[in-house]
Amino acid sequence: METIRSLKRMQKRAFRHKREGSVIGFVPTMGFLHEGHLSLMKLARKRCDVLVASIFVNPTQFGSNEDLCTYPRDFTRDESFCEKANVDIIFYPEFESMYTDDASVWVNEEALSGGLCGASRPDHFRGVCTVVTKLFNLVQPDLAVFGEKDAQQLRIIERMVRDLDFPVEIVRGSIVREPDGLAMSSRNKYLSATQRKEALCLRRSLDKVVEQFKEGERDATVLRQVVVDLIASVPSAELDYAEVVDDGSLAEVEKIEGDVLMALAVKFGAVRLIDNTILYP
Ligand code: AMP
Repeated sequence: METIRSLKRMQKRAFRHKREGSVIGFVPTMGFLHEGHLSLMKLARKRCDVLVASIFVNPTQFGSNEDLCTYPRDFTRDESFCEKANVDIIFYPEFESMYTDDASVWVNEEALSGGLCGASRPDHFRGVCTVVTKLFNLVQPDLAVFGEKDAQQLRIIERMVRDLDFPVEIVRGSIVREPDGLAMSSRNKYLSATQRKEALCLRRSLDKVVEQFKEGERDATVLRQVVVDLIASVPSAELDYAEVVDDGSLAEVEKIEGDVLMALAVKFGAVRLIDNTILYP
């Protein structure tokens, strides 16, 4: 396993692998890796010759009042996760080299980015699409794996790849959870003991929604209210959003007729967690 920090070196290396006919698999991350990231790497590993994982805490996807400075970082720990997943190259770009001071070109997705996380994080997906574009140009992947945990992000990346003709196959990786059901996240580390216990309300509310859905409930307002009520009953939790949206357009639905995404974001003090489930009628 090798770590590459220079943008130019990464791109040169990628082109060399392409010339040799190797399939490049790619897993972009912000580091502080966990089993969720590992599962994406394993998925990519099966389908490629050269596996690249990137670690970059992307400043352009954080709002000015968000946790860019305190986002957890531990490169040595990340290295051992990558070893376990048999990663060939860790692309760990030097922070200053990714954006010039006068960078002025952005990639903006305009249909799927406004709701859900985009409502409280206005420039977030512009930052995500821009950095993923840059990373794709640097790593030249044939396939890239993204997690279902960030369901909106995944769909926006799929749309970007479709609309801008990126020669990259996007592969979906399932959500990996702690044994008690909490979706793994680098940010879980910042939960207090009480918040950690109470954070189970995300999964519990989704389970309740699935239960009612299986019993035949198709009114999105009723299902959404299940989440709102459960989260309201948890002292340390503050609901950011709970939405039932069409799985393709991410538009809100009233009656569930096709596949929908039930997604929520909940704040525990400064820590914001997300989770989701897909409901298939
Ligand atoms: P992050 O490092 O949080 O930016 O995430 C990097 C990638 O890992 C994204 O594609 C995420 O959707 C994915 N990911 C994060 N947490 C999980 C999880 N618990 N299960 C599966 N994938 C995840």
